[in-house]
Amino acid sequence: MGRTVYVNGTYLDEAEAMISIFDRGFLMADAVYEVTSVLGGRLLNFAGHLARLERSLNELDMAMPMNADGLLEVHRELLRLNGIHDGLVYLQITRGNPGDRDFAFPDPETTPLTVVLFTQNKPGLAASPLAESGMKVVSVDDIRWGRRDIKTVQLLYPSMAKMIAKKAGCDDAWLVEDGLVTEGSSNNAYIVKGGKIITHELGNDILHGITRAAVLRFAREAQMEIEERAFSVSEAQQADEAFVTSASAFVMPVVELDGRAIGSGKPGKQTKRLREIYLEESLKTAI
Ligand code: PMP
Repeated sequence: MGRTVYVNGTYLDEAEAMISIFDRGFLMADAVYEVTSVLGGRLLNFAGHLARLERSLNELDMAMPMNADGLLEVHRELLRLNGIHDGLVYLQITRGNPGDRDFAFPDPETTPLTVVLFTQNKPGLAASPLAESGMKVVSVDDIRWGRRDIKTVQLLYPSMAKMIAKKAGCDDAWLVEDGLVTEGSSNNAYIVKGGKIITHELGNDILHGITRAAVLRFAREAQMEIEERAFSVSEAQQADEAFVTSASAFVMPVVELDGRAIGSGKPGKQTKRLREIYLEESLKTAI
């Protein structure tokens, strides 16, 4: 028996889980998702992920399929059924199965949304060796669509970017548009210069990271200076430190960009401090 997963109201073995070939998530990437981290059996920043889910659905004319308490209950039940201590909960909501292929959205009255959740077991998630060594990243053109603020499952280009990074012997890719870094393939990107944290401003160009919001809040509380604006690859190469944030990587140092060492070529002090603060503070509100 494999994992127990959740599909449209039912908990079942992953081998028994089925989605229609006409599901719009499958045919058209007409779906949104969230990934919530779990440490010590508790969910990090759950309220933030739920708020972003509601926003993503709203931007695509989909309704929340159940209320916040219902979704929390499914998350917790999956953690319990799968005995997850450290790991992730993946949630995906698609526009459902209209029974045929058609570009027009189906009537939500007759085509209910598809709701899928599963867990990923990742013992020692917060003790990643990459957090000690730092990541090497390579820049690639950002050729994604113009609504990156909506967390859709259109992840083909981010996957291709990761493969480009892998082939270049790197850990990840930073996406560049009009000469400026938008974000990482699956994370938000930051540099630190003269003590100041610099990261792309919010808008349609980047995903509004839940980790980004939390890290910037904690940084402000720790009296760190923040500038929300885009930066270029060469500015990043001349920065003192660099890092990325995401729900699953927390705060992860970046030590090399396009073959050039950033700062000392080792994870920076401020980055390390932010990782510590983020983990400490997020655990306080984990549920
Ligand atoms: N940007 C992109 C493109 C992402 O895919 C992700 C992670 N899903 C993030 C940023 C980070 O968002 P979060 O902190 O909410 O995980």
